Amino acid sequence: MRDAHTGGTKPEGELTNGSLRSSRVALFNHFRRCHEQHADSSCKMYSQTALAFTRLKRAARGRQSWDMYVWFALGQRLYDLGYEVQWMNSHVEPRCPDCAGRLKYDATVEQQLRARCGTDCTGNDGDKLEEIRETVADLYVRAFEDATRPDEFALL
Ligand SMILES: [Zn+2]
Repeated sequence: MRDAHTGGTKPEGELTNGSLRSSRVALFNHFRRCHEQHADSSCKMYSQTALAFTRLKRAARGRQSWDMYVWFALGQRLYDLGYEVQWMNSHVEPRCPDCAGRLKYDATVEQQLRARCGTDCTGNDGDKLEEIRETVADLYVRAFEDATRPDEFALL
């Protein structure tokens, strides 16, 4: 799961031209374009995705509405619905939760992947992936009332 981040460079800003927040429709169109590169189109999955985007955009508060959070939370939702979602990782790049800058990756001695802000914007050394997971989990349980807070993440 975690080695998804080590697979080389990610296309910068591919998700909706690098903007931090996109409309629900723009996100859905992006999702469909990406998915079509990986699999045949699936009407049922697309309608579930459209509904999930509606719920996520409605539930998101403040920075939770950044595309990366919505995208990761959508991936979690589709995963919980039984879909294969690893392909979604190649269409999103995790960003620093504080400055939206790029992250630098390293691994702990336990081989756990960690990420730090590339510019160390807050001067704190914390793992930004963990911060991102927390925000995704918050958004996820806000958006889907039947959901339990994920402790294993499909994409992160
Ligand atoms: Zn930063």
